Amino acid sequence: MKWLLLCFFLQVVVPKQHKADTTLGILILVNKEHKLPEGYRPHDLVPIDEAYNKGVMNLLRSEAATAFARLCAQASEDGIVLWNRSAYRSDTVQRQLYENAVKRRGEEGAGKYTAKPGHSEHQTGLTVDINSTHPSFGKTSEGVWLKEHAYLFGFIERYPLEKEHITGYAYEPWHYRYVGTEIATYIVENKLTLEEYYERKREHAHVPAR
Ligand SMILES: [Zn+2]
Repeated sequence: MKWLLLCFFLQVVVPKQHKADTTLGILILVNKEHKLPEGYRPHDLVPIDEAYNKGVMNLLRSEAATAFARLCAQASEDGIVLWNRSAYRSDTVQRQLYENAVKRRGEEGAGKYTAKPGHSEHQTGLTVDINSTHPSFGKTSEGVWLKEHAYLFGFIERYPLEKEHITGYAYEPWHYRYVGTEIATYIVENKLTLEEYYERKREHAHVPAR
């Protein structure tokens, strides 16, 4: 009986674990259930254009770095100042961040904002924290501009408000993920998360793929 209860508990509380599919390229899915291989590091990391960087962690995969510079340049033309705060992180850096977060918030609190090593999208080199790490950023003119325009440059707001039960993370209006313009447009038009996009793709063959 005890074992039965334990199995039930593990099924409910512990997310199922899968390997992240690195063959998906810029559409790779990394979350609490999908883990990157140990020591994963993209082969084409490049520094973000200095004009749009204030972060120590300033690397992105080359396609994402080019798109990020275009996004920031367009924002600048509209009078909006955007910059990288944190982009690619190795699993060693992520381990330190997670351990510090656990010390500050406890394991449950840490899990809402900070990924375990191997489970962070930042390790894909396709993710960038922009300007802030405070939920009020979503209401600033920069946050509003980003939400309206980022998809035109291939980025999606990865952890939207009220999708925590799907993404596993609290609202992070600063955390943007590059998926390319075609998929970003589809995701935004249909108000999906990346998790829901993959769910749809399994159900309907006509969902765009890259
Ligand atoms: Zn982030």
